[in-house]
Amino acid sequence: MYNLRNPKQRARYRRATTRRRDSNFGASERIIRAVFAKERKAMISALPRVGKVDKAEWTKAFRRMWLLSGENAWRYSEETWGAAQATARGRQHKPTKAIRVFGLQYKQIPAWMKWVAEYLFSNGAEKIDGIGNVTKQRVKAALAEGIANEESIPELADRIDELYGGFEGSRSTMIAQSETIEAFNRGSQAQAKEAGSTLDNMWICTDDDRTRDAHKPPPDGIGNTTVPYDEEFECDDGTTWPGDAVNCRCTIGYAIPEK
Ligand SMILES: [Zn+2]
Repeated sequence: MYNLRNPKQRARYRRATTRRRDSNFGASERIIRAVFAKERKAMISALPRVGKVDKAEWTKAFRRMWLLSGENAWRYSEETWGAAQATARGRQHKPTKAIRVFGLQYKQIPAWMKWVAEYLFSNGAEKIDGIGNVTKQRVKAALAEGIANEESIPELADRIDELYGGFEGSRSTMIAQSETIEAFNRGSQAQAKEAGSTLDNMWICTDDDRTRDAHKPPPDGIGNTTVPYDEEFECDDGTTWPGDAVNCRCTIGYAIPEK
């Protein structure tokens, strides 16, 4: 177990956690790239009109990504949070076993699945709409330019190919990383809550030059501060949990409350 109030141990925890979390980036990226690849085909077959962004495909992709990273976080939180909590109570930690639910692809704890489903209805739906709108705007602009140049359908198709090449590259990476980090931190929170945590929640930041001010340690921001187990944070940027802001690399941790 790690004592997160000790800076050295906190740094070790952060490295171990982010290594584990970031190991999901590749799988998440493949999920996102596959949706863009499908969309590329749909856009080309709709030419010269703008094709359809299939929201159901995106919802499925988000669900897969969230279940994957969240399950990883859930097991990890069980080890780290569970061990710290047991120590705080002067007991040995007995992990609860993950259970398999109706032969699904991922071993899941029902509470986490329920959480993901609820998330996708609220906050996730908005993100999926956002991705769809950005895509459509960019496709529209590319096609308008091609049509103004009186290009043929194969030439318009080339434009779409080029645009989607970028979507399946850096844009997929950005979306996958952002969602993985948020899913991991939220999965960890869901596990700690479900298991009855009474430890403080700690917002652990990467203290380097890419960290935004609002996430740095005081006096600049909220980094490495704690709130009681049943509270979320009040960050200056309006977010309430590490990883909720786009491109945030912060991590959630659990610390024994100070007396
Ligand atoms: Zn951050």
